[in-house]
Amino acid sequence: MDVKVLVLAYPSHSALDAIGFAQRASDQASITILTTRGGEKYSYKGVEKVIVANVGDPTPDQLAGLLEKTYSSHDIVVSPSTKDSTDALARLSALKNLPMFTEVNQLEPKGDGLMVTRPVIAGRAYVTYYTRLPAAFTVAKKAFTPQSSDHEPVVEELDAPPASMVRVGVEEKKFSGVNIEEAEVVIGVGRGFRKKEDIAMAEELARLLNGAVGCSRPITADLGWLPEDAWIGISGKRIRPKLYMPIGISGAPQHMSAAIDSKLIIAVNKDKSAPVFQHSDYGFVIDLYKLLPALIEKLKQRKRS
Ligand SMILES: Cc1cc2nc3c(=O)[nH]c(=O)nc-3n(C[C@H](O)[C@H](O)[C@H](O)COP(=O)(O)OP(=O)(O)OC[C@H]3O[C@@H](n4cnc5c(N)ncnc54)[C@H](O)[C@@H]3O)c2cc1C
Repeated sequence: MDVKVLVLAYPSHSALDAIGFAQRASDQASITILTTRGGEKYSYKGVEKVIVANVGDPTPDQLAGLLEKTYSSHDIVVSPSTKDSTDALARLSALKNLPMFTEVNQLEPKGDGLMVTRPVIAGRAYVTYYTRLPAAFTVAKKAFTPQSSDHEPVVEELDAPPASMVRVGVEEKKFSGVNIEEAEVVIGVGRGFRKKEDIAMAEELARLLNGAVGCSRPITADLGWLPEDAWIGISGKRIRPKLYMPIGISGAPQHMSAAIDSKLIIAVNKDKSAPVFQHSDYGFVIDLYKLLPALIEKLKQRKRS
């Protein structure tokens, strides 16, 4: 199948998967690379043209503008699965009415379209779609490897559109330094904790069990009571400890799907119908403010004797 492909190589170092994807889509893919970095070598099979935009660090709207300027009836538009390139592809897809698939990790050409597979539910399942072309795709890291060639592509330059957004500041995330992905015991803190100071109970329990403290999304994202590296869930960390104790956590799928591989789950919740109990091996239906001081005291006594 003869297909025209536009690869958004942003950031340029992770464009290889996207080039590999294009080659896999068709033996006769004719590939144009759009990049913001000149001087990169793109000697890969099918790469005919490299368009270098004269902007070092584009804002998402500039990236989308560049993509729109370059797009001309390409059958496939593909980029790495980074936030900015996904943002730009989504804007182009909406504008040109293209179906769009994110984080694709498998691809089979079929008829005049493609079969593409992408993970769902935090990687616990895969969905395969058939799509006609034209369509847009972002590809999962290391899913496709490009074949190189001796052919040197033509290089063109392109002016970047003016930005309507301004990047005002960049703030580094705060980290606690504790790696909950490696911990053998994780104590999970949820909205059942009434105030930040009460997390000290979870920290004490974790200390007594040689474990670490993790949490649900609201504890870090909404309340800022714990740093982001404690966040368990589809948008946080995935954990597989020997013991996970979600305490005052309702057990939403976005949280539990990232903890379900724990060897043993013991939940603490005062509501016996909380969904967390459906995913637990054992459960305490109790007010955490009653259980935790008693449990901590018991463990301390055990350590002393
Ligand atoms: C796109 C998307 C992505 C998301 N990603 C994540 C994610 O990565 N991680 C994540 O955690 N969430 C995520 N969420 C949010 C998720 O849906 C839930 O809203 C969140 O997990 C709820 O947090 P919680 O269980 O701490 O709070 P709540 O749902 O408010 O639950 C609090 C629980 O505490 C219990 N409780 C209250 N007081 C006590 C007490 N004194 N003693 C004992 N139990 C008590 C209550 O019965 C209740 O079950 C996501 C949501 C969306 C839409």
